[in-house]
Amino acid sequence: MANRAITVARGDGIGPEIMDATLHILKEAGARIDIEEIEIGEKVYLRGYTAGVEPSAWESLQRTKVFLKAPITTPQGGGFKSLNVTTRKMFGLYANVRPCVAYHPYVRTKHPQMDVVIVRENEEDLYAGIEHRQSDQVYQCLKLITRPGCERIVRYAFEYARRNNRKKVTCFTKDNIMKLTDGIFHKVFDEIAAEYPDIANEHWIVDIGAAKLADTPEAFDVIVMPNLYGDILSDVAAQIAGSVGLAGSANIGEKYAMFEAIHGSAPRRAGQNLANPSGLLLGAVMMLVHIDQPDIAERVHNAWLKTIEDGIHTYDIYSEGVSKEKVGTKEFAQAVVARLGQKPEKLKPVTYSAAPKQTLTSMVSARPPQKKELVGVDIFINWWGGTAEEFGRLVEKYNGDGLKLVMISNRGVKVYPEGFPDTTVCDTWRCRFQSESGGAIAPQQILNLMKRITEGGLDFTKIETLCNFDGQAGFSLGQGQ
Ligand code: NAD
Repeated sequence: MANRAITVARGDGIGPEIMDATLHILKEAGARIDIEEIEIGEKVYLRGYTAGVEPSAWESLQRTKVFLKAPITTPQGGGFKSLNVTTRKMFGLYANVRPCVAYHPYVRTKHPQMDVVIVRENEEDLYAGIEHRQSDQVYQCLKLITRPGCERIVRYAFEYARRNNRKKVTCFTKDNIMKLTDGIFHKVFDEIAAEYPDIANEHWIVDIGAAKLADTPEAFDVIVMPNLYGDILSDVAAQIAGSVGLAGSANIGEKYAMFEAIHGSAPRRAGQNLANPSGLLLGAVMMLVHIDQPDIAERVHNAWLKTIEDGIHTYDIYSEGVSKEKVGTKEFAQAVVARLGQKPEKLKPVTYSAAPKQTLTSMVSARPPQKKELVGVDIFINWWGGTAEEFGRLVEKYNGDGLKLVMISNRGVKVYPEGFPDTTVCDTWRCRFQSESGGAIAPQQILNLMKRITEGGLDFTKIETLCNFDGQAGFSLGQGQ
């Protein structure tokens, strides 16, 4: 079988040492790879490339489409962009996959049975980076969730579960509050779960789900969630497994993929042959599965498990009475190489099968767009210096032309009509206008209203149109409305 080209970056701090160790093990295991090396990280940042990578280096990645990346040091001070965020966005790496496994009794953990895989949506949610200052007092970040984005990540989670012999996929959202954004994530989860009758499914509200994960992680198998919850909870999960230094992660897209350790460049440990290469090695194992070398992935992973089980440990997981030998980075890699072909006896051996050939985008449902009907508008107005009642009466003056003010909310809470006088208010008010007759409106009515409002001297920040989709409201009610 022909070798597969991959792009490798050795990174900063302990990066070069753990990359050498990892590549040594892969080579000895018979990985069929050709390495193209690119430079990333601190030196590149300091040369003036704000994303930490020279533009020419992307050419290698565009060619190989597979990136094995060691950690980098982000220089102190402003103006530097996260290389990870740039890579994810440029190459459409929509899924972040992080197995969090306990290696009891060889690595200390409070959760000996833990074996959880966090599948985090990687591109959407609050990470779209669309932020605005609305007024003197109010700052806003847009949370964007798309149906195709949900379909892709949820299907990825179920496909991952099926391929890896996992029994259950759990979804975490906060759709009791964010009924539209987290609501669509949950709805898509329910729809897609129905296509996988062989895999159990459940949904938890993220707060209590997170508490349960921290307390009883053995109750979970694969967990899929939107970007922000996944960002936070994948770190929590790795930490409580007892193995932040041991966890690898995969960032997967339709065409490209990036594999790495979850830890940083540990600069204080650099150059001393001390660092544990396991996180990067387990990232590389996921890479081998991705490039259709599951046999090599299995060989490496089982040899690594056997090494851990034999008590050959780097300083970070070394524990008197449990560990047998404290080794450096190179010696650890040699110990893994010496065990290639062996399987662990106490820890569970792994088995891998080839990654699917089908792209998940092709499985995104081809549903026809729903019928969209304009039924109103929310106009956000800056105003300060009076009560909600006074402001409401002021805004009522702009009723007419078939539109009427139905409510005003402040920080999401309805304050007019019939607000609660003790509600705390700020200087931005959302004024909701809908049709007098309750039906559809024309865009021109909104433009006319905006004209009346601005000519009347009110200062608007933005508008959001209110639409129904197939007769269902595509907007939330004000709290208390
Ligand atoms: P870190 O993960 O580098 O280190 C945290 C602690 O864990 C340190 O005590 C370190 O010695 C230890 N540690 C980490 N990996 C280890 C390993 N493989 N073997 C043994 N011990 C290990 O986190 P930090 O100190 O907060 O960050 C250092 C630098 O890494 C920063 O510049 C940060 O921006 C960067 N960073 C990069 C990535 C990445 O490239 N993906 C991720 C996180 C942090």
